[in-house]
Amino acid sequence: DHVANQIAAGEVVQRPASVVKELLENSVDAGSTEIKLIVKDAGKTLIQVIDNGRGMSVTDARMCFERHATSKIRFAEDLFSLHTKGFRGEALASIAAIAHVELKTRQEQDELGTHLVIEGSKFTSQDVAVLPKGTSFAVKNLFFNIPARRNFLKSDMVEFRHIIDEFERVALAHHNISFVLYHNGSEMFNLPSSNQRQRIVNIFGGRTNEKLVPVKESTEIVEIQGFVCKPEFAKKNRGEQFFFVNNRFIKSGYLHHAVMAAYEGLLKDGCQPGYFIYLDVPPNTIDINIHPTKTEIKFDDEHALYAILRSAIKHSLGQFNV
Ligand code: ADP
Ligand code: MG
Repeated sequence: DHVANQIAAGEVVQRPASVVKELLENSVDAGSTEIKLIVKDAGKTLIQVIDNGRGMSVTDARMCFERHATSKIRFAEDLFSLHTKGFRGEALASIAAIAHVELKTRQEQDELGTHLVIEGSKFTSQDVAVLPKGTSFAVKNLFFNIPARRNFLKSDMVEFRHIIDEFERVALAHHNISFVLYHNGSEMFNLPSSNQRQRIVNIFGGRTNEKLVPVKESTEIVEIQGFVCKPEFAKKNRGEQFFFVNNRFIKSGYLHHAVMAAYEGLLKDGCQPGYFIYLDVPPNTIDINIHPTKTEIKFDDEHALYAILRSAIKHSLGQFNV
């Protein structure tokens, strides 16, 4: 069972960035308005997420490390978030199986909070403690008991780039939550709660603002909003290209193609535009690849979606050209 746990864990947790993604999503789900991410050595030494969300009772604090111990109710309309989060109720169990995890948590209505430590799936300490409302997970020594995994990690630069990618995706999907990111004691991002456009600018820099053209379309099958970049700012590399469906980051080669089709005739050879596209669709019209690490998705009527997206962007670019 121990070995099975570690193998399952290796599926969900491939690198430090996977831990970052799971912890940030949990903090979002907990209704937090402020989330802080603290990283040391690209997550190889420490990944800590501190939130001001609803926190956990002492029982829930112990329970959250059990496999399939999800508190999230399985409503049909929840199916999307259910799948994109991979194996429901497995993230913390997996992380605790292959790292040292320190949890501090307090619910608003409790006077005292819970402080516990779990290492390789074994609880090593549990105390009551004076704590602020919310939750802090500190994950240390990731893969301490799977040396092969640990040795296969890339350079700090590469691993930290993956962490930034996950951080940006969650921050872009939730502009009304404030986020900060520290790496080795330096503040890398400080994102106050703001509107969508300002969040993009706060992440990618002040000069992004002049590049953005708003996109908006509303139909029976999809609500589209977001921004695309003016063609003259297109770059040789893929750069900043994001799709979100129902507030979750996804990858879609097909929708990317729809965006590129909207730019037809506007781009220099080999150049790619940046885009930040938010799609809202009825959850029962999509199907998610249930592999925990995939961010791909299947739409019921992808041809219609393609056409709607392409024409919405064309319209925006045309207006801007007038
Ligand atoms: P899932 O998110 O799929 O439910 P996880 O293993 O990620 O599974 O988390 C298990 C449970 O732990 C969650 O359902 C939630 O009840 C609790 N939990 C995790 N993180 C937090 C947090 N930051 N604040 C409050 N509760 C949390
Ligand atoms: Mg989770």
